[in-house]
Amino acid sequence: MSADCLFCKIARKEVSSKTVHEDHDIVAFHDLNPVAPVHVLIVPKEHMDNLNEVGKGDDQLLGKALRLAAKLADDLGVGESGYRIVINNGDQGGQTVQHLHLHLIGGRQLEAKMG
Ligand code: 5GP
Ligand code: ZN
Repeated sequence: MSADCLFCKIARKEVSSKTVHEDHDIVAFHDLNPVAPVHVLIVPKEHMDNLNEVGKGDDQLLGKALRLAAKLADDLGVGESGYRIVINNGDQGGQTVQHLHLHLIGGRQLEAKMG
């Protein structure tokens, strides 16, 4: 937990969000500025700045986050049409919120080219 971290505050419900899933270690909610019809953030509640802070003990959590992404894609109607999972990591990776999160993006044709 980090007192000033936006996603920790969302996990603690000090900042509101449109939640689509919550369990004891993960929360998922709609992105405030969606880039596609489906744009959900999947956020482990435990504060880690990004993948650089992930340890061996987090393998299960990360696996769970990916499986949850596939389930939410299905729930939100893009499981079959397709979707993209993105983790922006660090400054040049385009990360703006320093709390590890996965983007689930879908509902329109995404470019094959990355970057
Ligand atoms: P990043 O750039 O770190 O990979 O992604 C951060 C994401 O958080 C952005 O897509 C941005 O739109 C989203 N975001 C920023 N502030 C808020 C907020 O207060 N609530 C929600 N739901 N999303 C936010
Ligand atoms: Zn945090």
